[in-house]
Amino acid sequence: MTRRVVIVGAGITGLSAAHRLFHDAPDVEVTVLEASPRPGGKLITNTFSGLPVDEGADSFLVRVPWGTQLCNELGLADELVAPAARHASLWLDQALRPIPSPNVLGVPLYPEAVAPGILPDDDLARLSGPGLPNQPLPEGDLSIGAVVRACVGDAVFERLVAPLLGGINAGEADAMSCTAMAPQLLAAGRHPEGMLTSFRQQLAQAKPGAAVFNAHPAGMQRVVSALVGQLGDRLRLSTTVTALTAGDKGWTLYTPGEDFWADGVILTVPSFAAAPLVAPLHLPSAQTLAGIEHASATLVTFAYHRRDLQVAADQSGFLVPQSAGLLMTACSYSGSKWAHLHHPEKEILRVSAGRINDQRHLALDDEALIDALRQDLATTLGVQAPPCETRISPWPDSLPQFPVGHADQMTQLAGDLVESAPGLVVTGAAHHGVGVPACINSGFQAAKKFIS
Ligand SMILES: Cc1cc2nc3c(=O)[nH]c(=O)nc-3n(C[C@H](O)[C@H](O)[C@H](O)COP(=O)(O)OP(=O)(O)OC[C@H]3O[C@@H](n4cnc5c(N)ncnc54)[C@H](O)[C@@H]3O)c2cc1C
Repeated sequence: MTRRVVIVGAGITGLSAAHRLFHDAPDVEVTVLEASPRPGGKLITNTFSGLPVDEGADSFLVRVPWGTQLCNELGLADELVAPAARHASLWLDQALRPIPSPNVLGVPLYPEAVAPGILPDDDLARLSGPGLPNQPLPEGDLSIGAVVRACVGDAVFERLVAPLLGGINAGEADAMSCTAMAPQLLAAGRHPEGMLTSFRQQLAQAKPGAAVFNAHPAGMQRVVSALVGQLGDRLRLSTTVTALTAGDKGWTLYTPGEDFWADGVILTVPSFAAAPLVAPLHLPSAQTLAGIEHASATLVTFAYHRRDLQVAADQSGFLVPQSAGLLMTACSYSGSKWAHLHHPEKEILRVSAGRINDQRHLALDDEALIDALRQDLATTLGVQAPPCETRISPWPDSLPQFPVGHADQMTQLAGDLVESAPGLVVTGAAHHGVGVPACINSGFQAAKKFIS
C-alpha cells in the first residue's frame, strides 16, 4: 500500500530526505512543503559581477562522506572542484599571520608549524610534547575550550582554535559542545598518549594534499536544482505549514491554502519554527526546540578593481578573532580560492559579520554596514579605494548554537517524539550539525525511518 510522507522545509535537509525516499522507497509518496517561493533555504547562488557567487554556504567538507555521496547520486560528483588556493591566515596583533600547517581543527602539531608572533614561547614549547591534559579529562561532554586549554594551553585555544571553530557557526568556542561540534578533539584529548600524539598518528595516515572542501562551479544552487528537478510537482513552494495534528488516520498538515494528509511527517524547518508546530504534540520537546539559540550573520560580497586590491594567488582568506575588535569575522578571497570565481579584472571578497555575542551588524543600515566593513578591509588589507560592486546577504537567526550537552538533549528529544508523536521526525541544522554534509545526513537518517 502506498504510504504518504510529507517533508516540511526544502532546505538541504528536507531535499536530502526527499531524495533518499524518492530513490530508496518507491512505495512512499513524497510531498515537500516549503514556505518560501524558492527552494534551498540557506543555499542560494546569484550572479555577482557576472559570476555565480553564493549568498550562503559556498562549499562543503569532504572529510565526511555525505556531501560527496549526494553529489555522486545526483551525477554531479565529477563536476565538483577543490579550492585553487589553500593557505589561510589569521588577523592577530594587527597583522595577517599564516594559520599553522599542519594543524588539526586549529591545533598545530609541531612548534615548527607555527610562524613567529602567533604563540608565546611556553605554548610553543608545549607543542613538541604529546599534548597531555594535566589530569584526565572528566567523563561526558565538555566544551571545546575546556578540552583544548587542558591539552595544549590557553594561547592555542584563544589564538587558533577559537577563531577557527567559532567561525563555523558564529559561536563562542568556550561554550561549544565538543561532542556536537568537534568529537575528534574530545577523542584525541582522551587518547592515552595525548592529543598531539593522536593527531600526529591521524595525519600520518591521511592522504597527503587531499582537499578539505569541495564546491560546484555553478554554486550550491546547482545541487539544489538537481534535487528539485527530480521532485517535479511533489515540491510545493510558498506553502507554509501553520499547524500539525495527529489523528486515527495519520497526520494532517494545515497551510493557508489547503490541508495535507500523511502517514509520516519529517519536519526540517529551523528549530524555532518547529517549536510551535510540536508544542500541541509534546510540550517539553517544543520547549527544547524553542530554547536552541541562533546567531545571526551577514555576508557582504565586495568586488574591487585589481588596480585597487590584489591578494596573493595562493591565499584563500583570513579569520578574525573576536579579541581583534573588528566587525568582520572572516574574509574569503573567493576569486583566488575558487578558479570558477576568478574575475580577470576584479577581486571578489566574501566578508562575514556576526557572532552569537556580537550582533552589532544588525543595528547598522546598509550604508553603515558597508562603511564599517570597508574600514575593516582598510585595516587588514590596506584597501582605501571604493569597491566597484557590493551585495548584502542578511542571515538572521541562521546559525544554531550547540552548548555542552546538546547531543544528549537531541537524543532525548528524538526518543520523546517516538513515544508521544509516532510518525513524526524532527531534524535539521539545529540537531546534528550545521554543515551541509551533516544536514544531508540528517535528511538521510530521517528518511530511513520510513524505508521498510
Ligand atoms: C551565511 C552562511 C554561510 C554558510 N556557509 C556554509 C558553508 O560554506 N558550508 C557548509 O557546510 N555550511 C555552511 N552554512 C551552514 C548551512 O548552509 C546550513 O546549516 C544548512 O544549509 C541548513 O539547512 P537546513 O535544510 O537544515 O535549513 P534551512 O536551509 O534553513 O531550510 C529550512 C527551510 O524550511 C522552510 N520553512 C521554515 N518554516 C516553514 C514552515 N512553517 N513551513 C514550510 N517551510 C518552512 C524555510 O523557508 C527553509 O527553506 C552556512 C550558513 C550560513 C547562514
